[in-house]
Amino acid sequence: MQGNRPALCLVLFSGGLDSILACRILQEQGIRTTALRFITPFFGYDLKGREAVAEAEILEKYGIDMRVIDISEPYLAMLKRPPHGFGRYLNPCIDCKILMLRQAITMMPAFGADFLATGEVLGQRPMSQRRDAMDIIERDSGARGLLLRPLSALGLKPTRMEESGMVDRSRLLGITGRGRKEQIALASRYGIKDYPAPAGGCVLADRILSCRFRKLFKHFGDIPDINSLLLAQAGRHFILPDGSWLVLGRDEKENQRIEGLVGKNDIMLRPSGIPGPLGLLRGLKDYQSVETASRLLLRYSRARGREAAVRAICRDNGSSRILKVSSASARLTESLKLSC
Ligand code: SF4
Repeated sequence: MQGNRPALCLVLFSGGLDSILACRILQEQGIRTTALRFITPFFGYDLKGREAVAEAEILEKYGIDMRVIDISEPYLAMLKRPPHGFGRYLNPCIDCKILMLRQAITMMPAFGADFLATGEVLGQRPMSQRRDAMDIIERDSGARGLLLRPLSALGLKPTRMEESGMVDRSRLLGITGRGRKEQIALASRYGIKDYPAPAGGCVLADRILSCRFRKLFKHFGDIPDINSLLLAQAGRHFILPDGSWLVLGRDEKENQRIEGLVGKNDIMLRPSGIPGPLGLLRGLKDYQSVETASRLLLRYSRARGREAAVRAICRDNGSSRILKVSSASARLTESLKLSC
C-alpha cells in the first residue's frame, strides 16, 4: 500500500503462462497490475491494428489489464548491433529484455507505477534466464531496485519492494529450471485453463526464419522496413538475377497474407485461369525478371512442366499484362531459391 492506495506494478507480458502467473501472484496480494505487451515485427505483430480487441480479450480471459505497445522502431535499431550479441539464432535475448525494461521504466510515471515485474524463471532459458544474465539485464536496463521476478523471487536476493513490505516475500515463489510442472499446478489453482503453449512466438529464435532474415539483411545491406520483415515470414523466397525479391505463397492463407503486403512499387503475379500461388515481386530493376518470376510461379502451379499464362499486375498504376511462359526447370528454381 502506497499512502492509501495499493501499489501498482507494470508487468512485462508476453502472453505466455509465466507472465500470466506473475500478474496473478501479485494481484493475489492486492497489488494492482498493468501488463505491457510489447510487439515488433518479430513477435506479437498480429495484434497490430486490433489492440483494443486483444486487450479486452486478456481482461475477459485472465482478469489482466493489458496494454499493447509497438516498440518496432527502437527494436530494429537495437537489432543492428545488440551489445550482448545473439543467442543460438538471430535472437538478441539479453538486449531484447534490456530494451523492454527500459521502455517500461520510461512508462512508470505515466502509469503511476511503483515497480516492475516479469514472468522470468531462473534457469529456464539458456541465454537470458541464467542468474548472471538476469543480473546484467537488471543492471544495464537501469531496473536495479525496481524489478521483481515473482516466480523465482525466493531463489534471488530480496528486492527493495520486498524489504519495504510493499510486496510480501512469503507469498512469492522459488521456481527454477525448465520444467513446467509447478506453473501448470499453479495455473490450475488459479483456474487458468486456456493459455498458450510455451516458447514459440518469437521468429528471431526460429532456425529457418532467422537464417532467412540474415540472408535478406545481407542482400539489402541493412534491416529492411517492417513490411519486408513481415513478408520474409511467409512463402517461398527467391532472389532474381537483377537483385529483385520474389515471394510465392504456399497455400491460400499465405496467398492472402502476401497479398495484404503488396506495396505500391511491387508487381503482383497470379496464374491466369489455373490454380496456383500468388507472387509478389519487389525491387524490380530489369523487366526480364517479371518473366523469370512468372516461370517460377508456374513451377508451383498446376502448369508445372508446361507453358501457361501469368497475369502481372502493377499496384502503382493498376496496369496489368499477361505473359505466356513455360514453367521454370528444377535447376533454375534451385539456383534462384533463397534456401535455409
Ligand atoms: S526469444 Fe525473442 S522475444 Fe524472447 S527474449 Fe529472445 S529475442 Fe526477445
